[in-house]
Amino acid sequence: MTGAGTATPPCRLCAAPLTTTFLDLGMSPLCENFLRADQLDAGETFYPLHVRICDECLLVQLQAYVGGEEIFSDYAYFSSYSQSWVEHARGYAHRMVAELGLGPDSLVTEVASNDGYLLRHFVDAGVPVLGVEPAANVGAVARAAGVRTETRFLGAQSGAELAERYGRADLVVANNVYAHIPDLIGFTAGLAALVKPGGLVTLEFQHLMRLIERNQYDTVYHEHYHYLTLLTAQRALATAGLTVVHVEELPSHGGSLRVFARPAGAPEAAVKELLAAEAAAGLHTVAGHRGFAESVFQVKRDLVDFLHQARAEGRRVVGYGAPGKGNTLLNHCAVRADLLEYTVDRNPHKHGRFLPGTHIPIHHPDRIAADRPDYVLVLPWNLRKEISAQLAYIGDWGGRLVFPIPRLEVVTP
Ligand SMILES: [Zn+2]
Repeated sequence: MTGAGTATPPCRLCAAPLTTTFLDLGMSPLCENFLRADQLDAGETFYPLHVRICDECLLVQLQAYVGGEEIFSDYAYFSSYSQSWVEHARGYAHRMVAELGLGPDSLVTEVASNDGYLLRHFVDAGVPVLGVEPAANVGAVARAAGVRTETRFLGAQSGAELAERYGRADLVVANNVYAHIPDLIGFTAGLAALVKPGGLVTLEFQHLMRLIERNQYDTVYHEHYHYLTLLTAQRALATAGLTVVHVEELPSHGGSLRVFARPAGAPEAAVKELLAAEAAAGLHTVAGHRGFAESVFQVKRDLVDFLHQARAEGRRVVGYGAPGKGNTLLNHCAVRADLLEYTVDRNPHKHGRFLPGTHIPIHHPDRIAADRPDYVLVLPWNLRKEISAQLAYIGDWGGRLVFPIPRLEVVTP
């Protein structure tokens, strides 16, 4: 890049200079870096969360302040821990086996195959599989469960090498990974290398249209490099000759897309309809993305106003959940233990730890019943129904639930 400018790298899809801000959340630590007590007196690294939009191709993107290798090589997230996710995977696998007529002569390759939570359903159906998983510890769990897995990052070269060694696949699956790889072009080339000429690639990712509509700005974090519409995903896939032929909307992650792409084929009606909905929502122009920052500020103002007032009135407020998205929200809103005493989480690995940046302590959920706080701020809004049921007992002492997103709501459970 020339000129006296900026260190901002160009658009990773079309290489145009990135000059337009979509959303700037300031500085934040990595959202999964939960701290031990002995780390509280040490420095902590914060990185910008400055999301930009490309004026040329409209890709909404976060600079790779932190590389994927650093985050994913020993990734602690095991998909099989989430029951609803396991069900989602089972339904998808059964459908694909039936619709594509997959059998012992087929191959299903999954990228970011995690602990084999999805591929094991194809294995059970007698369909040969290949998992491609960058995190060595997670891939080892998959292999132990009988799911053939290679520990690799997918790029143009590794895609070609894997295809050479194992053959091209009838179905290539890339769920919840497309937005999390900084090298969008290389990764897409890898997908194209893995699929047969007559094969199918399916991808799932959070839909920017729903993120904006539902104010889900806390899903902005450092490992989430692109915020995709169908239009920008279509453009990204086209760089490797993949055509989007079909699309479906899913409820996962607050509103996701499942995109079906092929090396050859034409878009069905569903693709045109969803593109039309995006255009109607303003997402096919830069200007149409502009109002979001103001909506985000409104969420922040409402939450901070509420917490300040609760404190002024001498009310006790604690949190529920310690999801990564909660850390984006709390850091952006500068909420620390002075406004939120502590949070609780069902994951025992988080007990006794502290939230990154804000240093809010994480306790066992039983703490709420013992302390009888006035308000419980719920951080994982995607589990609203389930958590409302679990916390119904706080109504016994007049406690109330607070939901910050999509807009502040204080409810009696
Ligand atoms: Zn671009």
